[in-house]
Amino acid sequence: MADKTLRLPENAPGRFYVDDTCTPCHTCMDVAGPDTSTPLLRYRDDESKVYFARQPVTSVEAAAAEEALDICPTQAIGNDGDD
Ligand code: SF4
Repeated sequence: MADKTLRLPENAPGRFYVDDTCTPCHTCMDVAGPDTSTPLLRYRDDESKVYFARQPVTSVEAAAAEEALDICPTQAIGNDGDD
């Protein structure tokens, strides 16, 4: 389970976030990265971590964010951040 005390500072304000345990393995980028129809996630410039560049707005985007959370092998994605 992601830990919001370890939330990366780059995350857009809101409920979804990536924490410091991101490896990064790229898995989540296949469902919510910049090359998908739901571009929510982005790499840091040094590609050391992934973060939510923006929060989901539509139900489709929210589903993509949840899917990213479900498939993250290190459970680095949380859905209990501050709104
Ligand atoms: S799936 Fe998890 S560990 Fe992999 S890049 Fe995404 S947030 Fe990081």
